[in-house]
Amino acid sequence: MIQTDIIIIGAGPCGLFTVFEAGLLKLKCHLIDSLPQPGGQCSEIYPKKPIYDIPGFPSILAGELVDNLMEQAAPFKPGFTLGEAAMTIDKTEEGKFIVTTVKGTKHEAPIVMIAGGLGVFEPRKPPIENIEDLEDKGIDYIIKDPEVYRGKRVVIAGGGDSALDWSIFLAEKKIANEVVLVHRSASFRGHLDSVQKVIDMAEQGAIKLITEAEVTGIHGNSHLEKVIITHQKEGEIVVETDHFIPLFGLKPSLGPIADWGLEIEKNAIKVNTLDYSTNIPGIYAIGDVNTYENKLKLILCGFHEGTLAVQSAFARIYPDKKNILKYTTVNGVQGF
Ligand SMILES: Cc1cc2nc3c(=O)[nH]c(=O)nc-3n(C[C@H](O)[C@H](O)[C@H](O)COP(=O)(O)OP(=O)(O)OC[C@H]3O[C@@H](n4cnc5c(N)ncnc54)[C@H](O)[C@@H]3O)c2cc1C
Repeated sequence: MIQTDIIIIGAGPCGLFTVFEAGLLKLKCHLIDSLPQPGGQCSEIYPKKPIYDIPGFPSILAGELVDNLMEQAAPFKPGFTLGEAAMTIDKTEEGKFIVTTVKGTKHEAPIVMIAGGLGVFEPRKPPIENIEDLEDKGIDYIIKDPEVYRGKRVVIAGGGDSALDWSIFLAEKKIANEVVLVHRSASFRGHLDSVQKVIDMAEQGAIKLITEAEVTGIHGNSHLEKVIITHQKEGEIVVETDHFIPLFGLKPSLGPIADWGLEIEKNAIKVNTLDYSTNIPGIYAIGDVNTYENKLKLILCGFHEGTLAVQSAFARIYPDKKNILKYTTVNGVQGF
């Protein structure tokens, strides 16, 4: 049994920063994440993209932000259970929580902080027969490292920002040898600037744009070799390619947390904005996983939520102790 002060479910940016804020109050944290590495969406979906709205960083790569958050949390020696989804929660007679993962690892603490973001990541897949056979053999649902596509032929499908931005990036930086963007409609859902840029690049021949069409078939043995595109007017088009990347977004799914008796609204956990507590005393929800009036799913908002939640957690753990806010400039960072 792993014992700690706060069990944090989700090692995304908000969970990681909460370790630091809890540490300043001398509270120890243990993080659980179903992914094999910390960083949540920043590591899993867009590690090489710059973020421009982290206070004090005019621009920072998402992956770099995660590295920095890990460094900032390090003095407080957080524990990690990675690659294991938190499945169940139970209450002990002393009022503590026991969180058990899919592999049976048990964690006990008086406080649980849910920082589960979008929940368990589930990409939306196109309805193509046997698509699973070539997953990771040329078919990817997320671009983690664009270098994988250097010198390769790539077919991207989708009409949102991810599909547009990655098509532009891979073509403009001359990473991929050939970029084909397939979208089932003639209009796109992404930012107008990105749409215009894709149209301009298509006119210049840097991107091959095929609209009103869908990828309906894939072929290959040990690796993808070609895709079949069905065009609404022209019928079937065969495109030889090394990679097919459908970027249709992620299906938000709270996963097992949805069955923990928490108040849920629109696939998110309802919280009290005084301290981001849930309807179950001792359980808090911060970051993308929570919902309240005027909620913004931004990293900086999650940082604020985690900061206030640990203050409330401290008061629950030590009802007789007074906690006085101390500036880090005055007290420094006293690690464990
Ligand atoms: C392409 C893209 C660009 C973005 N750009 C920006 C931007 O410029 N600025 C900005 O502020 N925000 C941006 N965002 C949003 C930002 O990434 C999120 O707001 C942020 O990641 C939320 O952090 P989080 O810690 O709440 O959750 P997440 O980063 O989603 O992390 C949650 C973690 O919880 C884990 N988890 C969930 N359920 C369980 C479970 N049952 N057991 C174990 N682990 C579990 C998941 O595996 C995940 O690792 C962007 C998002 C995307 C997709």
